[in-house]
Amino acid sequence: MSSPNAESTAFRSALEVIRAVEPRVADAIGAELADQRESLKLIASENYASPATLLAMGNWFSDKYAEGTVGRRFYAGCQNVDTVEALAAEHARELFGASHAYVQPHSGIDANLVAFWAILADRVESPALKRAQVRQVNDLTEEDWFALRRELGDQRMLGMSLDAGGHLTHGFRPNISGKMFDQRSYGTDPATGLIDYDRVAEAAREFRPLILVAGYSAYPRKVNFRIMREIADSVGATFMVDMAHFAGLVAGKVFTGDFDPVPHAHIVTTTTHKSLRGPRGGMVLCGPELADQVDRGCPMVLGGPLPHVMAAKAVALAEARRPDFADYAQRIVDNAQALAEGLLRRGATLVTGGTDNHLVLIDVSGYGLTGRQAEQALLDSGIVTNRNAVPQDPNGAWYTSGIRIGTPALTTRGLGTAEMDATAELIHIVLSQTTPGSNADGTPSKAKYVLDPALADKVSRQATDLLSTYPLYPSVTLA
Ligand SMILES: *Cc1c(COP(=O)(O)O)cnc(C)c1O
Repeated sequence: MSSPNAESTAFRSALEVIRAVEPRVADAIGAELADQRESLKLIASENYASPATLLAMGNWFSDKYAEGTVGRRFYAGCQNVDTVEALAAEHARELFGASHAYVQPHSGIDANLVAFWAILADRVESPALKRAQVRQVNDLTEEDWFALRRELGDQRMLGMSLDAGGHLTHGFRPNISGKMFDQRSYGTDPATGLIDYDRVAEAAREFRPLILVAGYSAYPRKVNFRIMREIADSVGATFMVDMAHFAGLVAGKVFTGDFDPVPHAHIVTTTTHKSLRGPRGGMVLCGPELADQVDRGCPMVLGGPLPHVMAAKAVALAEARRPDFADYAQRIVDNAQALAEGLLRRGATLVTGGTDNHLVLIDVSGYGLTGRQAEQALLDSGIVTNRNAVPQDPNGAWYTSGIRIGTPALTTRGLGTAEMDATAELIHIVLSQTTPGSNADGTPSKAKYVLDPALADKVSRQATDLLSTYPLYPSVTLA
């Protein structure tokens, strides 16, 4: 561990240098730290990266073009980029037990695009080239090229529905994946809220997708990836898992056996900044069959690699390989379960009735509110969450009926199960004391709400008190 003093000095010096050029940027950076320190951050997709991870991003690597892969670059002078990219990939392979890791994607969405096009290249483009007896697309006749483009655009994907917790990038129309693929989705059992694997198998048999996708942003339970792989195999689909949200739980060996996607999926994508606690970025893991295609991610779909972010990925992945990360991952789940129990005990309705991962989905219709009203009322009270659809949501994707909360960030700060119960109390007080508002013409509003400002202030102070014992970046003082 570096000394707290070194960390303070590093950030202070950086701000001093920035302030000399554009003081408003330095001020905004300082204000961001202050805001993050004060807010009870329950956003399930956010975390706090370590000082070492943050500092690895602010340097000369940002100046370097490094298209290509380690040892095979289209630009000269990439030896130091090679060092950090190779390190990040090695840490990723060791951490997840994957045979290949591609650490260039700039985000989770980019990682998914890399995976989709690697699969399309392997399963649609390569066979077409073979049929035409040519080595590369430039050698196809106009006619064969036109036919291939049509074939690439005529593939099917089966993924989890949005309101059951799936992600927009799993073939939904507003995202490019929905424009690329003919998509169908599997939902959850209305009675239990859980994935019904027999229904997934049935949908796969009927639809015969090229790609079966598992992974979620708002499903509070484990997924059995062994069963999902069997379903994929039974219809000849490529099985892809997007572990963007729960990669930290895989890394920390909370999800093992059937619940660890890496041994079961043909290809796994992730973000690096959610429960994995690294820099903002993405990553793809796969076996040898797809490795070459995955490595073509840049310039196939990605802009030039971000070597400074790959350096930070190497740092964060090294951190995730230390034994204390497994302890962190277990505490994330213990905390989510304590939060769920605290809410249930006070009468809240939870989708699936609880959690076995890092997130909890509250159905706030039980409080007579929409997700939007609940999100704003909680924000007024110093509690940062986000609204989220619940299965078969009557309020749609904008207003919603759910509030998604997650524990990776607060667990990083050091809060434990007792503080989670206190947090459940604060959430319950706010939601039970908020009432829906009405529009000017007297009709009920899905956005307006009424909450006594004095109560919101009181809860805000209690939230700050709760955090005061667990300072964020205790090693860093800017003033
Ligand atoms: C967050 C998320 C993404 C997108 O990640 P970005 O880094 O924001 O692009 C993709 N898939 C899932 C399942 C996610 O939860």
